[in-house]
Amino acid sequence: MKFLTYTHAGENHLGAATEAGTIVNLGALLRQALGAQAPIPSDVAGLIEAGPALLEPARRCLEDVASHAAHRAPADARVIAPIPRPHKNVFCVGRNYRLHIIEGNLAAKRDPNDFPKAAEFFSKPWTTVIGTGEAIRRHAKHTRLLDYEIELGIVIGKGGTDIPRETALDHVFGYTIINDVTARDLQKRHGQWFKGKGLDTTCPMGPWVVHRSAVPDAQALNMELDVNGEVRQRANTQDMLFDVPAIIEQLSAGLTLHPGDVIATGTPSGVGFAMTPMRCLEPGDVVRARIDGLGELVNHVVD
Ligand code: MG
Repeated sequence: MKFLTYTHAGENHLGAATEAGTIVNLGALLRQALGAQAPIPSDVAGLIEAGPALLEPARRCLEDVASHAAHRAPADARVIAPIPRPHKNVFCVGRNYRLHIIEGNLAAKRDPNDFPKAAEFFSKPWTTVIGTGEAIRRHAKHTRLLDYEIELGIVIGKGGTDIPRETALDHVFGYTIINDVTARDLQKRHGQWFKGKGLDTTCPMGPWVVHRSAVPDAQALNMELDVNGEVRQRANTQDMLFDVPAIIEQLSAGLTLHPGDVIATGTPSGVGFAMTPMRCLEPGDVVRARIDGLGELVNHVVD
């Protein structure tokens, strides 16, 4: 099940991408199934918060292929971020792929084998979030070095605190793609990473959230990012230093996670700032991020 949010005529709607590749108005399908009085959410976050009471009907609606044609999203509907305005900042893990840690250490003239002993967390404000097809602003007034970072995104389904790794995957609703766009000079100048990771439009997310039932092993996914067709990052989620259960266990220690929370799990090697010479995103660039089974997140850079 691929759950998404689209906008049409100024309103957000809960949608889904079908096996046939069309986008259906899942909200309308649910209304037809549950009756006009049933509260129907307008985005994926609302679906997650409603829990099994809506997820099971949604599953049945999406299996009923015959009903899809009558509930197609309008042709001029525009897919936006599945969770367009998270209730909290997007949680992020820094330095979580071995080769990326080594390239970062070399670029900073540190010991290349200086690996984190615990997951390094930071966050991005919700004002960073955009969907596929939306523009990343270059922010040339504020940064010289805008960079990309493909990441597997975890979307929390069942909240909790002190979640042990053994049951951590029970708390996952599904997965998405995130591009943790980063202003490298601000990241360095301000010490703490929040400023360099927090500029508007620097958290492309989507195109949808794939339910975990369709992702049998989140630690075996190929991922690839290209800029204008030139592949810059290519890796597999098996190379994470801290895997999905470890990230959830460490983040939720004394910190309550809620349904709809999003966690970006870190990026592999191949980022622009570690190249010689450094390369950064410029207006006109098109960035494509793909992860096995999760689709393709495409964004262009504008002035
Ligand atoms: Mg990152």
